[in-house]
Amino acid sequence: MIHQLPELPYAKDALAPHISAETIDFHYGKHHKTYADNLNKFLAGTPLEQETTLEAVVRKAPQGPIFNNAAQVWNHTFYWNSLKPKGGGEPTGKLAEAVTKAYGSFARFQEEFTAKAVGHFGSGWAWLVLKDGQISIEATPNAGTPLTYGCTPLLTCDVWEHAYYIDYRNARAKYVENFWKIANWEFAANNLEAAAVKK
Ligand code: MN
Repeated sequence: MIHQLPELPYAKDALAPHISAETIDFHYGKHHKTYADNLNKFLAGTPLEQETTLEAVVRKAPQGPIFNNAAQVWNHTFYWNSLKPKGGGEPTGKLAEAVTKAYGSFARFQEEFTAKAVGHFGSGWAWLVLKDGQISIEATPNAGTPLTYGCTPLLTCDVWEHAYYIDYRNARAKYVENFWKIANWEFAANNLEAAAVKK
């Protein structure tokens, strides 16, 4: 195994009641793990096997099974870090300033992100990103990730049905409503800080 499934950053019941331990068992223990297993299987014997970082594989892989599985491993690890027990509230500091600058207020930003996450047709992801020096909201289908088109991801919400079907059945809007209660704004702020340092 070149690309290991990273450990969850908290106990599997730590996001309850918003995300149950049963959802984590399936979403992390089965879906995320299967993407990692398949990535290693598809990479074997290809030039991309030499890449030492998952991010490089995601950036360089052509559309197809290697990209799909690599991006899904990366996206899910990023998603687990985008959540935290007793998270939520609002961002502070530079991130709060950037959100207000781009959207006028945190409430307005939250509305737009929610609309994009709930309204995205089919499987995919909603993202807060840094794009051309500005905060932006993106949605990507399937395994799509803003990493591949010049954005710096700051926070993500998985809107594949497997992310919410056990806890919320078809009610994606309810899942996204509760996503805000466990959003990890420190993680997003650290990602913004790292992007600013890189420039
Ligand atoms: Mn997922």
